Amino acid sequence: MTSLPDSPLPDLRRYDAVLFDLDGVLTPTAEVHMHAWRAMFEELFAQWGIEPAYTDDDYFAHLDGKKRYDGVAALLRSRDVEIPWGDPSDDPSLDTVCGIGNRKNAVFSRVLADEGIAPYPGSLALLDALAAVGARVGVVSSSKNAKDVLTAAGILDRFPVIVDGAVAERDGLPSKPAPDMFLAGARQLGAAPARCAAVEDALSGVASAAAGGFALIVGVDRGAGAATLSAAGAHVVVSDLAELVGPATR
Ligand SMILES: [Mg+2]
Repeated sequence: MTSLPDSPLPDLRRYDAVLFDLDGVLTPTAEVHMHAWRAMFEELFAQWGIEPAYTDDDYFAHLDGKKRYDGVAALLRSRDVEIPWGDPSDDPSLDTVCGIGNRKNAVFSRVLADEGIAPYPGSLALLDALAAVGARVGVVSSSKNAKDVLTAAGILDRFPVIVDGAVAERDGLPSKPAPDMFLAGARQLGAAPARCAAVEDALSGVASAAAGGFALIVGVDRGAGAATLSAAGAHVVVSDLAELVGPATR
């Protein structure tokens, strides 16, 4: 528990709806994404002679929580590399922003299919506690793989509303940290942001919910750091969502 010792943890059942980020909040997919990005960019940087070398800090600074192509463009821009945007239909072998994003996705899909994925036990416990009182819940994820991941984790049917990368592209919603995806999730659940909670592990996601005026923003520290998540707008930071089940049942 990384919030102030005397600040009580919130009861998420008191909010009209709870919107969850997926990767790193419900499922440990951030690990799979990090590995896929690292494998792909290490090879690309070596081929193109790009320096400095790719590190996991790049993941948190440029890639985590963003739409795939925006992340590719941001990372390459950090190394003063500009390439054509291309088109989402680009083959993974093409050296465009979209082609490189699709290359990473092929690695990700292979790992997900080979190894499967289980939800964090603490996240599942919180979802159970919310379901027990009929709370409205949704997923707001920049990933275009959100439904595949939810299906692989066996929790797809728990979420009547899913605003993912595919929906964002279809509806022209800008990437987190813009508030649009979280606002769309709240709207689809019929709840006002000022009465909703958002749960996020990425700085861009916390900033997105803060910009959307959400009543409660829970930061989940999976590596970004509690202080950094708080500075981005998280009202409380936990290291596992099981910490939020206690207050609801005590
Ligand atoms: Mg995340």
